[in-house]
Amino acid sequence: MNPTILFKKNTRSVFFHITTHCNLSCRHCYIDPVQHGLGSIPLDQIMQWLTYLKKDNTDLVLLGGEPTLHPDLSEIVKFSRKLGFKSITIDTNGYLFHNILNRVTPHDVDFFSFSLDGPDASINDAIRGADSFETCTKGILAAREKGFSVSVIYTVSAMNLKSLNQMPVLIQKLDIQRFFIQVIGIRGNSSKNASNNQQINYEQWMTHVPKVAKQVVQLGIPVTYPKVFLQKDEFFECAGRVADYFFVFPNGRVYQCPLCEDYPIHSYMISTDGLKKMPPINEQQFFDLSIPEGCVMNKIVQPGNISYDKEGKPMHQIACCLLKEEA
Ligand code: SF4
Ligand code: SF4
Repeated sequence: MNPTILFKKNTRSVFFHITTHCNLSCRHCYIDPVQHGLGSIPLDQIMQWLTYLKKDNTDLVLLGGEPTLHPDLSEIVKFSRKLGFKSITIDTNGYLFHNILNRVTPHDVDFFSFSLDGPDASINDAIRGADSFETCTKGILAAREKGFSVSVIYTVSAMNLKSLNQMPVLIQKLDIQRFFIQVIGIRGNSSKNASNNQQINYEQWMTHVPKVAKQVVQLGIPVTYPKVFLQKDEFFECAGRVADYFFVFPNGRVYQCPLCEDYPIHSYMISTDGLKKMPPINEQQFFDLSIPEGCVMNKIVQPGNISYDKEGKPMHQIACCLLKEEA
């Protein structure tokens, strides 16, 4: 699933992939065992790494793979709470393995964030797999029943863009507390299989996304969505230069930029020795480059969203993928 993220200057957030195991095979899944490692990180190792990664005011997102497949998730959550993370979110596909809702409490977990990519089974299951819509919506209702705060992440692509306008009704019915709209990244499965490359352009994005975000806000539910296309008066900034984002994987790789995760150009390695910087060349050298298209990694790995005028100038700069708008 795409993680629940919000890029703010001078913030620290840890996105901890505690396992790469998953029961689903979503068409846009970005997990690549070759690059990220295969399997789950043992509990004692996770505890040690969390201790290395936590500073003041650090947000923690536990994800996978499917994090509820990790048999020690409840202990990881309780340990993280004691350690003093500012917020703890679990990103899940909704299958909620190991009876997780009965093993943690709303005091332990700030948000369960469920991935749904369609307003009904016909749209969602074509992307995420048979029965995933029914299971996920049941999981949401069960989490709300137990008093957990719940968000939903909808990853927009050409496969489900036109169905986004049906989401306000569903998320109101499911009584969710926050709605995240994500945009498909050309990573993992999407980069390997052309039929999964369902990137959308500026017109498609602007026609659908802000309008739906507004409708959801009018229901009293906050919405977060990526900026994607900068307007002429907006300033490009790379999160890799100004914020502390750590995307941690089971093989010990720690990236600062999600768009770099298909390549061995991670900024750090984490191990029993702590968090150690990698020597150049790594993703950090890309963060310092300046190009008219905005984000350098977007231009390298997913340039299909850039359009040019007759003189060959980009019509819109592409924002950092970590820059989100909050409505
Ligand atoms: S639920 Fe998440 S980790 Fe699992 S296959 Fe889907 S996108 Fe990948
Ligand atoms: S997405 Fe682009 S702008 Fe954002 S951290 Fe990565 S390279 Fe920098």
